[in-house]
Amino acid sequence: MTLTTTDRYARSKELFAAAQAVIPGGVNSPVRAFRGVGGTPIFFARGNGAHVEDVDGNSYIDYVLSWGPLLLGHAHPAVVQAINEQAARGTSFGAPTELETELAELVITLVPSVEQVRFVNSGTEATMSALRLARAYTGREKIVKFIGCYHGHADMLLVQAGSGVVTLGLPDSPGVPASTAASTLTVEYNDLDAVTALFREHGDTIAAVIVEPIAANMGFVLPEPGFLQGLRDLTRKHGTVLIIDEVMTGFRAAPGGAQSVFGIDPDITCLGKVIGGGLPVGAYAGKKAIMQMVAPAGPMYQAGTLSGNPLAMAAGLAMLHTAFDVPADGSPTLFQSAAGRAQTLADGIRSLSEETGVPLQVGNVGTMFGFYFLREAGAKVRSYADAKQHVDAARFTRFFWAMCERGVYLAPSQFEAGFVSSAHDTVDIAVTLTAARESLLIARG
Ligand SMILES: *Cc1c(COP(=O)(O)O)cnc(C)c1O
Repeated sequence: MTLTTTDRYARSKELFAAAQAVIPGGVNSPVRAFRGVGGTPIFFARGNGAHVEDVDGNSYIDYVLSWGPLLLGHAHPAVVQAINEQAARGTSFGAPTELETELAELVITLVPSVEQVRFVNSGTEATMSALRLARAYTGREKIVKFIGCYHGHADMLLVQAGSGVVTLGLPDSPGVPASTAASTLTVEYNDLDAVTALFREHGDTIAAVIVEPIAANMGFVLPEPGFLQGLRDLTRKHGTVLIIDEVMTGFRAAPGGAQSVFGIDPDITCLGKVIGGGLPVGAYAGKKAIMQMVAPAGPMYQAGTLSGNPLAMAAGLAMLHTAFDVPADGSPTLFQSAAGRAQTLADGIRSLSEETGVPLQVGNVGTMFGFYFLREAGAKVRSYADAKQHVDAARFTRFFWAMCERGVYLAPSQFEAGFVSSAHDTVDIAVTLTAARESLLIARG
């Protein structure tokens, strides 16, 4: 790194050094460590709307948004007010509150496949519990997951996983018992033939198929036409539970999640990120016949001291209502305007790719987007194997730092998606595209 870069992030570097002494790798989640782009992580001091400021006083337009949750941007007044008001009334009782029912009802209204909801504290807990539920419901053990999909860090899901695992090049983690990993069968994303073959061989011993409806933890890979429906048909035929992991795509791809975009009716849906309004929440939800297996309605045990805590429920309710309630004058919802901005951004990056001759694969759905730097024009990424083969890491790294220097903060890895909030205005998008043009020319080298 150059001297100027060092100076620009001096305070972040000091703080990172101190953090490394007391926190493994200096971070509480590996994706924050900037291993995919070299250098050290930027420490943030504050955020407001679409903008964040780091501890060295640099400001950025933020497209990470806490890795997805902040659909309304940072410190949206409605969310802040809901949190403050609830905090003053008490942050947790370990007893039911009305807010849990309200948020469950709202989720059921927004996501048509969902009939009942159980709240937990993270996406990891949601997927882990969903799998236990699928196993309890079917009395089977095997599960199918897709290579490069990330479903949190539970043992049986940390097999050929995505997100930080891909960025760090650790496809499987030590500490996961071989016996646990053995019941996880993995297949390349978008390879329906391989799933069909798996079902032919393991037939009626597969409890669940778990899938990201848009693979957004290995970059941004859309399901090919027929892929998700093919999974739905196969799982129905074999009495297997279909789990759609919408921890990232829920309330992001569309109000009803990616399942509403692609017309899929899953048995169980996992939620997280946006549902907590920026506080730690997850949920697993689905058909009543299956959800009734969960204790105390049924025998499958799952619990949580802070699950459904009123602070997080209040934040989630405030965020979802503010984003999705249709204004009285019939103007677009905040979600719709954010999705419009994401479309402008993605289209802008597509034209910049042509203009600068830097081959990119750009994808966007709703308020999410992503782009790969490709080694050669015309290459297509539809699975993790493709991503490994076609992605140009050096170009992305140059682009990433050039964008930072121009005040645009993207995920520090091209195996991660980007997010737009309702706070990103047309000026933010225009500034971002100007920065992207210059940065693409720098990245081109
Ligand atoms: C982020 C994510 C998770 C894990 O959620 P945490 O809250 O980080 O535990 C699970 N599945 C998907 C698809 C995710 O994007």
